[in-house]
Amino acid sequence: MELDNCPVCGSIFYKNQFNQLCPKCKKEEEKLYETVYQYMRKRENRAATMNQIVEATGVPEETILKFIKTGRLQIAQFPNLGYPCDKCGKVIRTGKLCEPCSTVLKQDLDEFDQEQARKKAHGKTYLSRN
Ligand SMILES: [Zn+2]
Ligand SMILES: [Zn+2]
Repeated sequence: MELDNCPVCGSIFYKNQFNQLCPKCKKEEEKLYETVYQYMRKRENRAATMNQIVEATGVPEETILKFIKTGRLQIAQFPNLGYPCDKCGKVIRTGKLCEPCSTVLKQDLDEFDQEQARKKAHGKTYLSRN
């Protein structure tokens, strides 16, 4: 537990792993979650887009995205919903990065691995020569 300012209203509260907001804002957020959840569980809303949900529920998009990203709202059955890639902002539906960004990231990692391997190999020859 640590004292922190609530990112929404600025009041001081005890922050922990599960509580990123002050009790008042937390309660407010729960209400928003319930509103979105009730909307999304209706079968006829399965094809809803983010804009439609925002309009119908009055809940800000960033709040809805937060619910999706933290896994509270499951979007597997919502073909028109997604959230932005951490890197480029393109809409994705799984993971943290879009396909191209994760490919680039993987290449970077591979290069890093190769570089490390090269250094290691180099070190070995150097050592064996001595
Ligand atoms: Zn607050
Ligand atoms: Zn991306």
